[in-house]
Amino acid sequence: MTRLLSVEYQGLAHTLVETLQGPVDITAICDAPTIDEFLRIGRLSPKVVAHFVAAAREKAREKGQPLEKGPQMLPLDPRNLPPVSRPSKILCVGRNYTEHARELGNAVPTELVFFAKTPNCLVPHMGPIVIPPGVGRVEHEVELAVVIGKRAARLTPEEALSVVAGYTILNDVTARELQKGLGGKGLPWTAGKCIDSFAPCGPYLVLPDEFDPLADHAIELYVNGQLRQQGRSSQMIHSVPQILAAISRTITLEPGDIIATGTPAGVGPLVPGDTVVACIEGLGALENLVIGEDQVVGGARAS
Ligand code: ZN
Repeated sequence: MTRLLSVEYQGLAHTLVETLQGPVDITAICDAPTIDEFLRIGRLSPKVVAHFVAAAREKAREKGQPLEKGPQMLPLDPRNLPPVSRPSKILCVGRNYTEHARELGNAVPTELVFFAKTPNCLVPHMGPIVIPPGVGRVEHEVELAVVIGKRAARLTPEEALSVVAGYTILNDVTARELQKGLGGKGLPWTAGKCIDSFAPCGPYLVLPDEFDPLADHAIELYVNGQLRQQGRSSQMIHSVPQILAAISRTITLEPGDIIATGTPAGVGPLVPGDTVVACIEGLGALENLVIGEDQVVGGARAS
């Protein structure tokens, strides 16, 4: 059972491991302040993480610090960070659930369709989704996201899961009118997908010892407590191994890359003041407040 959390306190990033006794900070032990760094140093695996947790506990014991007291192992008020902050790329599968393709009036594709979001879109659990003026209707899309752990190209579906570091939730927030307007003219829809803060991600990176992407997981999204999206991961047209094999045919995957696997039916509008909670069974709940750009404190963009 391994789930990791990226947080920041006093301006420094830390990596925490959730354990039955509370979170354990492994930053000093593994010499990697963020999960991004951890992934670049070497292969992130449940075994390696268990080793670092044991070493962190041993170090605390030597220093006479309280052991396994949960929050006492943490300074006060850590701020969440996305599980991965600087992926080389975020790729998103479109129309991977039949009902969702139909609700937007699209044909169900036989070939895998995917597009890119950019790292400026990432915000953590509890971070704000900031809607700029003039972008029209904005919609939520809850998605199972895969984080890559190992450089890889031309994967077969059979070997694809061996390069996965873990799983998390991504809300593929979309300026739908911009997307449809551009798409309708045959133009790229980047402007509708890559807006700052339009990819909340988290709260955890859950490693493959705890999450099987081929098992059936409930996927839900709530706005202000009301159920909007409901689906199951088993309804995906293209499975996680098929997606990784198809993308890696022409694109080399790098540690930290995020692949979002498409959204089930029920997408709908978000407006300032909304609280949106994206849930996937086994991955937790990703909560974000929607605000208008005029609500960003001091005129600076929230992060
Ligand atoms: Zn999407």
